[in-house]
Amino acid sequence: MIIGVPKEVKSDEYRVSMLPVGVEELVSRGHRVIVESSAGLGSGLPDHEYLRAGAELAASGADVFGQADLIVKVKEPQPEEYAMIRPGQLLFTYFHLAASGGLTDAMIDSGATCFAYETLRDAKGRLPLLTPMSEVAGRMSIQQGAKYLERPQMGRGILLGGVPGVPPAHITILGGGIVGSNAAKIAAGFQADVAILDVDLDRLRYLDDIMPANVNTLYSDRHTILEQIQRADLVIGSVLIPGAKAPQLVRKEDLKLMKPGSVVIDVAVDQGGCIETSHPTTHSNPTYIIDEVVHYCVANMPGAVGRTSTFALCNATMPWVIRLAEIGGQAAIDAAGPLREAVNVHQGRITNQAVANAFHLPC
Ligand code: NAD
Repeated sequence: MIIGVPKEVKSDEYRVSMLPVGVEELVSRGHRVIVESSAGLGSGLPDHEYLRAGAELAASGADVFGQADLIVKVKEPQPEEYAMIRPGQLLFTYFHLAASGGLTDAMIDSGATCFAYETLRDAKGRLPLLTPMSEVAGRMSIQQGAKYLERPQMGRGILLGGVPGVPPAHITILGGGIVGSNAAKIAAGFQADVAILDVDLDRLRYLDDIMPANVNTLYSDRHTILEQIQRADLVIGSVLIPGAKAPQLVRKEDLKLMKPGSVVIDVAVDQGGCIETSHPTTHSNPTYIIDEVVHYCVANMPGAVGRTSTFALCNATMPWVIRLAEIGGQAAIDAAGPLREAVNVHQGRITNQAVANAFHLPC
C-alpha cells in the first residue's frame, strides 16, 4: 500500500502523523511511505530522518494526496484539502464530524472512507486514539488556566496554589474522564482546591480512590454545576458523549453567576463545547471574554506542545496504521472490530450512528 503523510495545514498545528520509526516499520513490511517535505519540522523531525527511515519525500500536499491509497493525518481535512481527496481513498485522522456539518458534507461528497481516530474503540471499550491527546490537553488545561487567571491576561489575579494564609484557587472540572482526571492530577499538584463532576458513579468511585485529598468528586447535576461555577476561579470543560455533540452544561445566563475574571477552559470545544458560549479559537488568538468570564477554547490544544503530542499520538496510532496497511481498507470495513468502529463515512454515507444523529441523517 502507498501511505501518505501530508504536512498539517490547520492554523498553529505543529504535529505530524508519523514518526520516522513508523515509516521504517511500514517500509520493512513492503509498503511505500510518502512524506510531504518539512511535515515533521514543527515537531523537531527534519526530512533527513524520514529519508533515512525509508520515506520518499513529496514537494506538496497535493503530491501526497495524489499518490497515496491511505492518508494518515492529525487534524480533520481542511477546506483547501477537500478537492485533493479521491473517491475510494482511505483517510485515517481525527475528524470530530458531529461538530461540523461542512466537513461532514465534504467527506460524504468526497467518496473517501473516513476512519476517525476518535471513534476507534478497542476490545475493552476504550478509545485508545483519543487517550494520548486527552492526556496532553488535560494536563495543559491547568497550565493555560494558571496563565489566564493572571491579571495581565484579564484573569482574577489568582495563584492556583495560594500561599500560606491565602486560600488556593477553586477549580471545577466538568467530566472526570481522561482530560478531567489528568487536569485534576496537575491541579492537585499545584495545591489547588479541586472538584471533579461526572455522571458515571463508578468513575467517581475510582477517582475518589486514586486522587489526593485536595480533589473532591461530585455527581454532575444541574444544581451542583450551578453551585460549583459560582465558587470556581477556573472551570475545565471535559465532558464527552463519544461521537456526539457535547451537552451544554453551562448556559449563557449562568455566566452572570460566575466571578468576574474567572476562566473557562472548554477542552470539549472540539465536540461543540460544554459551555453554551464556547466557540473554537486558535493558539494565535486563544481567548475572548463574555460577561467578564475569560473563555479559552482552542480546538487543537496539543498542537502547541507539538513534540510531546506527536510522540504520544504516534505511539498510539502506529499499530492501527500498520494493521490497516496490512489488511487493506475493505477488510477493515467488513470485519467487526476497532477499525470498523472507526469508520464514520464510507462511499458517500455516514456509517457512525452518533454522527448521523447529529445531522438527522440515515446511518
Ligand atoms: P472521556 O470519555 O475520557 O471522558 C468524558 C467524561 O465525561 C466521562 O467520564 C463521562 O462520564 C463524562 N460525562 C458525560 N456526560 C457528563 C455530564 N453531563 N456531566 C459530567 N460528566 C459527564 O473523554 P476525554 O478523553 O476526557 O475527552 C473529553 C473531551 O475533550 C472530548 O470532547 C475530546 O474530544 C476533547 N479533547 C479536546 C482537545 C482539544 O485540543 N481541545 C484535546 C483532547 C481531547
